[in-house]
Amino acid sequence: MKALLPALLLLASGFTALFAKGGLPINDLCPVDGKPGRVIYRVFSDQGTIIFCCATCLDSYQKSPGRYKVQPKADK
Ligand SMILES: [Zn+2]
Repeated sequence: MKALLPALLLLASGFTALFAKGGLPINDLCPVDGKPGRVIYRVFSDQGTIIFCCATCLDSYQKSPGRYKVQPKADK
């Protein structure tokens, strides 16, 4: 049972991040390469929470945020 706990915690924190007030991402797709974004790779900007598909893209964005255009979610 002990091995199950970290996995459950990870799952719980993921859900918390997803539903936390103000924590919802403004975008669906990774601004760097257009792949589906994942909530675990995110940055908090003036526009809100921006998600990325992977840590590499998150890194690229943080190095030069002006280079990438964040496409807001269509379903508003
Ligand atoms: Zn990406």
